Amino acid sequence: MTVTIECEFYIQQFYQKKSMSDKKYSPESLMMSYGYNPELSEGAIKCPIFQTSTFVFRNAQEGKAFFEIAYGKRAIRASEEMGLIYSRINNPNLEIVEKRLTLWDGAADAAVFESGMSAVSTVLMEFLKPGDIVLYSTPLYGGSHHFLNHVLSKFGIRAIGFDASDADKNIEDLLRDEDVRRKVALIYLETPANPTNTLVDIKYCADVAETLSTAEKKIIVAVDNTYLGPIWQHPLQLGADLVIYSATKYLGGHSDLTAGAVLGNSDHIQRLKVMRTFLGNMCSPNTAWLLLRSLETLKVRMDQQQANAVQVAEFLDRHERVEKVHYLGLIDRSESSKQYQIYKDQCLGSGAMVSFHIKGGEQEAFAFLNGLRLIKLAVSLGGTESLAEHPATMTHTDIPDEEKLRIGITEQLIRISIGIENAKDIIADLDRALWMINGD
Ligand SMILES: *Cc1c(COP(=O)(O)O)cnc(C)c1O
Repeated sequence: MTVTIECEFYIQQFYQKKSMSDKKYSPESLMMSYGYNPELSEGAIKCPIFQTSTFVFRNAQEGKAFFEIAYGKRAIRASEEMGLIYSRINNPNLEIVEKRLTLWDGAADAAVFESGMSAVSTVLMEFLKPGDIVLYSTPLYGGSHHFLNHVLSKFGIRAIGFDASDADKNIEDLLRDEDVRRKVALIYLETPANPTNTLVDIKYCADVAETLSTAEKKIIVAVDNTYLGPIWQHPLQLGADLVIYSATKYLGGHSDLTAGAVLGNSDHIQRLKVMRTFLGNMCSPNTAWLLLRSLETLKVRMDQQQANAVQVAEFLDRHERVEKVHYLGLIDRSESSKQYQIYKDQCLGSGAMVSFHIKGGEQEAFAFLNGLRLIKLAVSLGGTESLAEHPATMTHTDIPDEEKLRIGITEQLIRISIGIENAKDIIADLDRALWMINGD
Protein backbone atom coordinates (compact mmCIF):
# COMPACT_ATOMS: atom_id res chain seq x y z
CA MET A 1 0.00 0.00 0.00
CA THR A 2 2.70 2.46 1.04
CA VAL A 3 4.76 1.54 -1.96
CA THR A 4 1.87 2.21 -4.36
CA ILE A 5 1.20 5.64 -2.87
CA GLU A 6 4.85 6.61 -2.96
CA CYS A 7 5.09 5.41 -6.50
CA GLU A 8 2.01 7.41 -7.56
CA PHE A 9 3.40 10.43 -5.81
CA TYR A 10 6.63 10.04 -7.73
CA ILE A 11 4.68 9.84 -11.00
CA GLN A 12 2.71 12.99 -10.14
CA GLN A 13 5.93 14.84 -9.36
CA PHE A 14 7.36 13.66 -12.64
CA TYR A 15 4.41 15.01 -14.61
CA GLN A 16 4.39 18.26 -12.68
CA LYS A 17 8.08 18.75 -13.48
CA LYS A 18 7.48 17.79 -17.08
CA SER A 19 4.64 20.24 -17.56
CA MET A 20 6.66 23.02 -15.92
CA SER A 21 9.59 22.52 -18.25
CA ASP A 22 7.06 22.49 -21.13
CA LYS A 23 6.45 26.16 -20.37
CA LYS A 24 9.58 27.12 -22.28
CA TYR A 25 7.61 26.54 -25.49
CA SER A 26 5.30 29.16 -26.97
CA PRO A 27 1.61 28.76 -26.13
CA GLU A 28 0.73 27.82 -29.73
CA SER A 29 3.20 24.92 -29.52
CA LEU A 30 1.57 23.59 -26.36
CA MET A 31 -2.10 23.80 -27.41
CA MET A 32 -2.06 20.21 -28.72
CA SER A 33 -0.58 18.60 -25.60
CA TYR A 34 -0.34 20.71 -22.45
CA GLY A 35 -2.14 19.32 -19.41
CA TYR A 36 -3.12 16.03 -21.10
CA ASN A 37 -1.44 12.70 -20.54
CA PRO A 38 -2.30 10.16 -23.33
CA GLU A 39 -1.26 7.27 -21.03
CA LEU A 40 -4.33 7.93 -18.91
CA SER A 41 -6.61 7.57 -21.97
CA GLU A 42 -5.48 4.42 -23.82
CA GLY A 43 -2.82 6.41 -25.68
CA ALA A 44 -5.40 8.53 -27.53
CA ILE A 45 -3.58 11.46 -29.16
CA LYS A 46 -6.68 13.62 -28.66
CA CYS A 47 -8.26 13.97 -25.25
CA PRO A 48 -11.54 12.01 -25.25
CA ILE A 49 -14.79 13.66 -24.11
CA PHE A 50 -15.35 12.61 -20.49
CA GLN A 51 -19.11 12.47 -20.86
CA THR A 52 -19.80 11.49 -17.26
CA SER A 53 -21.60 13.20 -14.40
CA THR A 54 -19.69 11.55 -11.54
CA PHE A 55 -16.35 9.87 -10.68
CA VAL A 56 -15.55 6.82 -8.56
CA PHE A 57 -13.46 7.46 -5.41
CA ARG A 58 -10.75 4.93 -4.54
CA ASN A 59 -11.81 5.05 -0.89
CA ALA A 60 -13.95 7.12 1.50
CA GLN A 61 -10.97 9.07 2.87
CA GLU A 62 -10.20 10.31 -0.62
CA GLY A 63 -13.82 11.42 -1.11
CA LYS A 64 -13.67 13.35 2.18
CA ALA A 65 -10.42 15.10 1.24
CA PHE A 66 -11.63 16.09 -2.24
CA PHE A 67 -14.82 17.62 -0.83
CA GLU A 68 -12.94 19.59 1.82
CA ILE A 69 -10.79 21.19 -0.89
CA ALA A 70 -13.60 21.70 -3.41
CA TYR A 71 -15.85 23.44 -0.88
CA GLY A 72 -13.03 25.70 0.31
CA LYS A 73 -13.07 24.19 3.84
CA ARG A 74 -9.27 23.99 3.78
CA ALA A 75 -6.43 24.68 1.38
CA ILE A 76 -4.84 21.95 -0.69
CA ARG A 77 -1.64 20.56 0.93
CA ALA A 78 1.64 20.51 -0.95
CA SER A 79 1.65 16.72 -0.95
CA GLU A 80 -1.91 16.45 -2.31
CA GLU A 81 -3.46 16.54 -5.74
CA MET A 82 -7.11 17.38 -6.14
CA GLY A 83 -9.11 14.54 -7.65
CA LEU A 84 -12.29 14.31 -9.65
CA ILE A 85 -15.65 14.37 -7.84
CA TYR A 86 -18.65 15.35 -9.95
CA SER A 87 -18.84 17.22 -13.25
CA ARG A 88 -20.39 20.37 -11.76
CA ILE A 89 -17.24 20.69 -9.63
CA ASN A 90 -14.56 19.41 -12.03
CA ASN A 91 -14.06 17.24 -15.11
CA PRO A 92 -10.90 16.32 -17.09
CA ASN A 93 -11.98 18.27 -20.19
CA LEU A 94 -12.66 21.36 -18.08
CA GLU A 95 -9.36 21.09 -16.21
CA ILE A 96 -7.29 20.64 -19.37
CA VAL A 97 -8.90 23.57 -21.18
CA GLU A 98 -8.33 25.73 -18.08
CA LYS A 99 -4.64 24.77 -17.94
CA ARG A 100 -4.13 25.55 -21.64
CA LEU A 101 -5.90 28.90 -21.37
CA THR A 102 -3.53 30.12 -18.64
CA LEU A 103 -0.56 29.94 -21.05
CA TRP A 104 -1.60 32.79 -23.35
CA ASP A 105 -2.09 35.36 -20.60
CA GLY A 106 0.64 34.03 -18.30
CA ALA A 107 -2.01 33.49 -15.59
CA ALA A 108 -1.66 31.26 -12.54
CA ASP A 109 -5.11 29.74 -12.99
CA ALA A 110 -8.33 29.88 -15.03
CA ALA A 111 -12.02 29.08 -14.57
CA VAL A 112 -14.18 28.23 -17.58
CA PHE A 113 -17.94 28.82 -17.73
CA GLU A 114 -20.83 27.90 -20.03
CA SER A 115 -21.05 31.45 -21.45
CA GLY A 116 -19.28 34.80 -21.37
CA MET A 117 -22.16 36.20 -19.33
CA SER A 118 -21.76 33.53 -16.67
CA ALA A 119 -18.05 34.46 -16.43
CA VAL A 120 -18.96 38.17 -16.07
CA SER A 121 -21.81 37.64 -13.60
CA THR A 122 -19.86 35.18 -11.42
CA VAL A 123 -16.99 37.68 -11.08
CA LEU A 124 -19.39 40.44 -10.06
CA MET A 125 -21.29 38.22 -7.59
CA GLU A 126 -18.12 36.90 -5.97
CA PHE A 127 -16.20 40.16 -5.63
CA LEU A 128 -19.03 42.55 -4.69
CA LYS A 129 -21.34 42.73 -1.69
CA PRO A 130 -24.27 44.97 -0.61
CA GLY A 131 -23.17 48.58 -0.09
CA ASP A 132 -20.29 48.34 -2.58
CA ILE A 133 -19.81 50.54 -5.63
CA VAL A 134 -18.52 49.23 -8.97
CA LEU A 135 -17.11 51.65 -11.56
CA TYR A 136 -17.36 50.55 -15.20
CA SER A 137 -16.26 51.91 -18.57
CA THR A 138 -18.83 52.71 -21.26
CA PRO A 139 -19.71 51.63 -23.90
CA LEU A 140 -19.92 48.13 -22.47
CA TYR A 141 -21.22 44.82 -23.80
CA GLY A 142 -25.05 45.02 -23.46
CA GLY A 143 -25.39 41.94 -21.22
CA SER A 144 -22.72 43.18 -18.80
CA HIS A 145 -24.33 46.64 -18.75
CA HIS A 146 -27.72 45.08 -17.91
CA PHE A 147 -26.30 42.86 -15.15
CA LEU A 148 -24.42 45.78 -13.56
CA ASN A 149 -27.39 48.14 -13.60
CA HIS A 150 -30.48 45.96 -13.27
CA VAL A 151 -29.40 42.81 -11.41
CA LEU A 152 -26.75 44.09 -8.97
CA SER A 153 -29.08 46.93 -7.92
CA LYS A 154 -31.41 44.27 -6.43
CA PHE A 155 -28.58 43.31 -4.07
CA GLY A 156 -27.81 46.89 -2.98
CA ILE A 157 -24.75 47.29 -5.20
CA ARG A 158 -24.37 50.56 -7.10
CA ALA A 159 -22.85 50.64 -10.59
CA ILE A 160 -21.45 53.93 -11.94
CA GLY A 161 -20.37 54.23 -15.57
CA PHE A 162 -17.62 56.45 -16.96
CA ASP A 163 -16.89 57.34 -20.56
CA ALA A 164 -14.08 55.20 -22.06
CA SER A 165 -12.64 58.18 -23.91
CA ASP A 166 -10.74 60.28 -21.36
CA ALA A 167 -11.27 57.52 -18.78
CA ASP A 168 -8.51 58.73 -16.44
CA LYS A 169 -10.04 62.19 -16.10
CA ASN A 170 -13.53 60.74 -15.70
CA ILE A 171 -12.40 58.33 -12.96
CA GLU A 172 -10.58 61.15 -11.15
CA ASP A 173 -13.80 63.20 -11.20
CA LEU A 174 -15.84 60.31 -9.78
CA LEU A 175 -13.33 59.66 -7.01
CA ARG A 176 -13.59 63.25 -5.75
CA ASP A 177 -16.84 62.08 -4.13
CA GLU A 178 -15.89 60.78 -0.66
CA ASP A 179 -18.73 58.21 -0.70
CA VAL A 180 -17.50 56.73 -3.99
CA ARG A 181 -13.88 56.62 -2.77
CA ARG A 182 -14.90 54.75 0.37
CA LYS A 183 -17.26 52.25 -1.24
CA VAL A 184 -15.62 51.38 -4.54
CA ALA A 185 -14.72 47.67 -4.56
CA LEU A 186 -14.22 46.86 -8.23
CA ILE A 187 -13.27 48.63 -11.46
CA TYR A 188 -14.70 46.90 -14.51
CA LEU A 189 -13.21 47.66 -17.93
CA GLU A 190 -13.88 46.67 -21.50
CA THR A 191 -11.09 47.80 -23.79
CA PRO A 192 -11.19 48.31 -26.72
CA ALA A 193 -14.81 49.35 -26.24
CA ASN A 194 -17.38 47.71 -28.46
CA PRO A 195 -18.21 48.90 -31.14
CA THR A 196 -16.13 52.10 -31.30
CA ASN A 197 -12.68 50.61 -30.47
CA THR A 198 -12.03 53.31 -27.82
CA LEU A 199 -9.16 52.30 -25.51
CA VAL A 200 -9.03 52.56 -21.71
CA ASP A 201 -5.64 52.66 -19.95
CA ILE A 202 -5.55 49.42 -17.90
CA LYS A 203 -2.33 50.30 -16.10
CA TYR A 204 -3.74 53.64 -14.96
CA CYS A 205 -6.83 51.90 -13.53
CA ALA A 206 -4.64 49.29 -11.78
CA ASP A 207 -2.62 52.12 -10.18
CA VAL A 208 -5.81 53.84 -9.00
CA ALA A 209 -7.06 50.55 -7.51
CA GLU A 210 -3.77 50.03 -5.72
CA THR A 211 -3.82 53.53 -4.25
CA LEU A 212 -7.36 52.99 -2.95
CA SER A 213 -6.68 49.49 -1.58
CA THR A 214 -5.98 48.93 2.11
CA ALA A 215 -4.74 45.92 4.09
CA GLU A 216 -8.38 44.93 4.75
CA LYS A 217 -9.83 45.76 1.36
CA LYS A 218 -8.30 45.04 -2.02
CA ILE A 219 -9.89 46.86 -4.96
CA ILE A 220 -10.22 44.46 -7.91
CA VAL A 221 -9.61 45.47 -11.53
CA ALA A 222 -11.41 43.17 -13.99
CA VAL A 223 -10.94 43.53 -17.75
CA ASP A 224 -13.18 42.02 -20.42
CA ASN A 225 -10.49 41.08 -22.97
CA THR A 226 -12.81 39.46 -25.54
CA TYR A 227 -11.94 41.88 -28.35
CA LEU A 228 -8.13 41.57 -28.41
CA GLY A 229 -7.24 38.68 -26.16
CA PRO A 230 -5.51 36.48 -25.62
CA ILE A 231 -3.16 37.19 -28.56
CA TRP A 232 -3.06 40.98 -28.80
CA GLN A 233 -3.57 42.18 -25.21
CA HIS A 234 -2.55 40.80 -21.80
CA PRO A 235 -4.27 42.81 -19.03
CA LEU A 236 -2.77 40.74 -16.18
CA GLN A 237 0.70 41.88 -17.26
CA LEU A 238 -0.53 45.49 -17.02
CA GLY A 239 -1.69 45.12 -13.42
CA ALA A 240 -5.29 43.87 -13.81
CA ASP A 241 -6.42 41.24 -11.28
CA LEU A 242 -8.86 39.37 -13.49
CA VAL A 243 -9.20 38.93 -17.22
CA ILE A 244 -12.57 37.85 -18.59
CA TYR A 245 -13.45 36.30 -21.95
CA SER A 246 -16.54 35.48 -23.88
CA ALA A 247 -14.97 32.26 -25.22
CA THR A 248 -17.89 32.18 -27.66
CA LYS A 249 -15.87 34.66 -29.74
CA TYR A 250 -12.16 34.24 -30.68
CA LEU A 251 -11.34 31.43 -28.25
CA GLY A 252 -14.14 29.24 -29.61
CA GLY A 253 -13.71 30.85 -33.00
CA HIS A 254 -16.07 28.70 -35.09
CA SER A 255 -19.46 30.15 -34.05
CA ASP A 256 -20.47 26.70 -32.80
CA LEU A 257 -20.35 27.05 -29.01
CA THR A 258 -21.00 29.45 -26.13
CA ALA A 259 -18.49 29.60 -23.26
CA GLY A 260 -16.67 32.04 -20.99
CA ALA A 261 -13.44 32.20 -19.01
CA VAL A 262 -11.81 34.14 -16.18
CA LEU A 263 -8.05 34.16 -15.49
CA GLY A 264 -6.09 35.48 -12.53
CA ASN A 265 -4.13 34.46 -9.45
CA SER A 266 -4.85 31.16 -7.67
CA ASP A 267 -6.74 32.69 -4.72
CA HIS A 268 -9.10 34.69 -6.91
CA ILE A 269 -9.76 31.81 -9.30
CA GLN A 270 -10.34 29.39 -6.43
CA ARG A 271 -13.00 31.74 -5.05
CA LEU A 272 -14.66 31.86 -8.47
CA LYS A 273 -14.60 28.08 -8.77
CA VAL A 274 -16.33 27.70 -5.41
CA MET A 275 -18.97 30.25 -6.51
CA ARG A 276 -19.31 28.40 -9.84
CA THR A 277 -19.95 25.15 -8.01
CA PHE A 278 -22.99 26.70 -6.32
CA LEU A 279 -24.27 28.68 -9.30
CA GLY A 280 -23.80 25.57 -11.43
CA ASN A 281 -22.66 27.57 -14.46
CA MET A 282 -19.56 25.54 -15.34
CA CYS A 283 -18.73 24.59 -18.90
CA SER A 284 -19.90 21.10 -19.98
CA PRO A 285 -17.39 18.36 -20.98
CA ASN A 286 -18.59 18.63 -24.55
CA THR A 287 -18.10 22.41 -24.74
CA ALA A 288 -14.69 22.12 -23.04
CA TRP A 289 -13.70 19.54 -25.66
CA LEU A 290 -14.80 21.88 -28.48
CA LEU A 291 -12.69 24.64 -26.90
CA LEU A 292 -9.66 22.33 -26.83
CA ARG A 293 -10.17 21.76 -30.54
CA SER A 294 -10.43 25.53 -31.07
CA LEU A 295 -7.34 26.49 -29.06
CA GLU A 296 -5.09 24.47 -31.38
CA THR A 297 -5.74 26.95 -34.20
CA LEU A 298 -6.22 30.11 -32.11
CA LYS A 299 -2.97 31.80 -33.15
CA VAL A 300 -3.22 31.05 -36.89
CA ARG A 301 -6.89 32.07 -36.97
CA MET A 302 -6.34 35.35 -35.14
CA ASP A 303 -3.22 36.20 -37.15
CA GLN A 304 -5.10 35.65 -40.41
CA GLN A 305 -8.14 37.57 -39.20
CA GLN A 306 -5.93 40.52 -38.25
CA ALA A 307 -4.03 40.45 -41.56
CA ASN A 308 -7.39 40.50 -43.39
CA ALA A 309 -8.76 43.27 -41.14
CA VAL A 310 -5.80 45.54 -41.90
CA GLN A 311 -6.52 45.25 -45.63
CA VAL A 312 -10.28 45.70 -45.15
CA ALA A 313 -9.82 48.79 -42.93
CA GLU A 314 -7.46 50.39 -45.48
CA PHE A 315 -9.92 49.67 -48.27
CA LEU A 316 -12.87 51.15 -46.35
CA ASP A 317 -10.82 54.19 -45.34
CA ARG A 318 -10.36 55.05 -49.03
CA HIS A 319 -13.94 54.31 -50.10
CA GLU A 320 -16.06 57.15 -51.41
CA ARG A 321 -19.18 55.93 -49.61
CA VAL A 322 -17.52 55.60 -46.21
CA GLU A 323 -17.31 58.59 -43.89
CA LYS A 324 -15.06 57.31 -41.09
CA VAL A 325 -13.43 54.00 -40.13
CA HIS A 326 -12.80 53.01 -36.48
CA TYR A 327 -9.94 50.55 -36.41
CA LEU A 328 -7.02 50.36 -33.99
CA GLY A 329 -4.60 50.22 -36.92
CA LEU A 330 -5.91 53.59 -38.11
CA ILE A 331 -5.91 55.66 -34.91
CA ASP A 332 -4.40 59.11 -35.09
CA ARG A 333 -0.66 58.66 -34.57
CA SER A 334 0.22 62.24 -33.67
CA GLU A 335 2.31 62.92 -30.56
CA SER A 336 -0.62 64.43 -28.72
CA SER A 337 -2.93 61.46 -29.37
CA LYS A 338 -3.68 59.89 -25.98
CA GLN A 339 -5.40 56.93 -27.62
CA TYR A 340 -2.29 56.17 -29.64
CA GLN A 341 -0.16 56.34 -26.51
CA ILE A 342 -2.42 53.76 -24.81
CA TYR A 343 -2.42 51.64 -27.96
CA LYS A 344 1.40 51.55 -28.06
CA ASP A 345 1.71 50.69 -24.36
CA GLN A 346 -1.12 48.23 -24.13
CA CYS A 347 -1.88 46.40 -27.38
CA LEU A 348 0.23 43.92 -29.34
CA GLY A 349 -1.92 44.14 -32.45
CA SER A 350 -4.81 46.03 -34.02
CA GLY A 351 -7.22 43.07 -33.97
CA ALA A 352 -9.91 42.08 -36.42
CA MET A 353 -12.89 44.22 -35.41
CA VAL A 354 -13.65 47.11 -37.74
CA SER A 355 -16.51 49.57 -37.52
CA PHE A 356 -17.30 52.41 -39.89
CA HIS A 357 -19.74 55.20 -40.58
CA ILE A 358 -21.37 54.85 -43.95
CA LYS A 359 -22.52 58.00 -45.78
CA GLY A 360 -26.28 58.37 -45.21
CA GLY A 361 -28.49 57.03 -42.40
CA GLU A 362 -30.35 53.90 -41.32
CA GLN A 363 -31.79 53.36 -44.80
CA GLU A 364 -28.35 53.34 -46.44
CA ALA A 365 -26.87 51.20 -43.65
CA PHE A 366 -29.65 48.61 -44.05
CA ALA A 367 -29.35 48.62 -47.87
CA PHE A 368 -25.65 47.93 -47.46
CA LEU A 369 -26.19 45.10 -44.94
CA ASN A 370 -28.92 43.54 -47.08
CA GLY A 371 -26.59 43.72 -50.09
CA LEU A 372 -23.82 41.60 -48.53
CA ARG A 373 -23.47 38.04 -49.86
CA LEU A 374 -20.26 36.45 -48.57
CA ILE A 375 -20.32 38.36 -45.27
CA LYS A 376 -23.27 37.20 -43.16
CA LEU A 377 -25.67 39.54 -41.38
CA ALA A 378 -25.41 38.37 -37.77
CA VAL A 379 -24.30 39.56 -34.33
CA SER A 380 -21.40 37.92 -32.44
CA LEU A 381 -17.76 38.11 -33.52
CA GLY A 382 -14.42 36.36 -33.62
CA GLY A 383 -15.51 33.39 -35.72
CA THR A 384 -13.91 32.03 -38.87
CA GLU A 385 -16.59 33.69 -41.02
CA SER A 386 -16.97 37.45 -41.45
CA LEU A 387 -20.09 38.94 -39.85
CA ALA A 388 -21.70 42.36 -40.16
CA GLU A 389 -24.31 44.07 -37.98
CA HIS A 390 -25.93 47.43 -37.15
CA PRO A 391 -25.07 48.31 -33.51
CA ALA A 392 -27.64 51.13 -33.10
CA THR A 393 -30.61 48.81 -33.77
CA MET A 394 -29.10 45.44 -32.84
CA THR A 395 -26.35 44.87 -30.21
CA HIS A 396 -26.67 48.35 -28.69
CA THR A 397 -30.41 48.98 -29.16
CA ASP A 398 -30.88 49.18 -25.35
CA ILE A 399 -28.67 52.25 -24.88
CA PRO A 400 -30.60 55.55 -24.53
CA ASP A 401 -30.48 57.61 -27.75
CA GLU A 402 -28.54 60.58 -26.36
CA GLU A 403 -25.86 58.25 -24.94
CA LYS A 404 -25.63 56.44 -28.29
CA LEU A 405 -24.93 59.72 -30.03
CA ARG A 406 -22.38 60.82 -27.43
CA ILE A 407 -20.33 57.65 -27.89
CA GLY A 408 -20.69 57.57 -31.66
CA ILE A 409 -23.23 54.78 -32.16
CA THR A 410 -25.15 56.50 -34.94
CA GLU A 411 -27.59 55.15 -37.55
CA GLN A 412 -24.67 55.13 -39.99
CA LEU A 413 -22.46 52.85 -37.94
CA ILE A 414 -21.73 49.30 -39.18
CA ARG A 415 -19.65 46.75 -37.23
CA ILE A 416 -17.81 43.93 -38.96
CA SER A 417 -15.95 41.00 -37.49
CA ILE A 418 -13.37 39.90 -40.03
CA GLY A 419 -13.00 36.17 -40.66
CA ILE A 420 -10.40 33.96 -42.35
CA GLU A 421 -11.78 34.12 -45.91
CA ASN A 422 -9.53 35.47 -48.67
CA ALA A 423 -9.24 39.23 -48.02
CA LYS A 424 -9.85 39.95 -51.72
CA ASP A 425 -13.26 38.24 -51.51
CA ILE A 426 -14.24 40.10 -48.32
CA ILE A 427 -13.28 43.41 -49.95
CA ALA A 428 -15.14 42.60 -53.17
CA ASP A 429 -18.28 41.79 -51.19
CA LEU A 430 -18.04 45.06 -49.22
CA ASP A 431 -17.38 47.07 -52.37
CA ARG A 432 -20.34 45.59 -54.24
CA ALA A 433 -22.70 46.16 -51.28
CA LEU A 434 -21.46 49.76 -50.83
CA TRP A 435 -22.18 50.59 -54.48
CA MET A 436 -25.64 48.97 -54.25
CA ILE A 437 -26.80 51.36 -51.50
CA ASN A 438 -28.75 53.75 -53.70
CA GLY A 439 -30.09 50.98 -55.89
CA ASP A 440 -27.16 51.52 -58.32
C1 LIG B 1 -20.30 38.30 -26.41
C2 LIG B 1 -19.67 39.11 -25.35
C3 LIG B 1 -19.95 38.86 -23.98
C4 LIG B 1 -20.95 37.84 -23.53
O1 LIG B 1 -20.57 36.54 -23.86
P1 LIG B 1 -21.59 35.33 -24.16
O2 LIG B 1 -20.67 34.22 -24.48
O3 LIG B 1 -22.48 35.76 -25.28
O4 LIG B 1 -22.37 35.11 -22.91
C5 LIG B 1 -19.28 39.64 -23.04
N1 LIG B 1 -18.40 40.59 -23.41
C6 LIG B 1 -18.12 40.84 -24.70
C7 LIG B 1 -17.15 41.92 -25.05
C8 LIG B 1 -18.75 40.12 -25.71
O5 LIG B 1 -18.47 40.39 -26.99
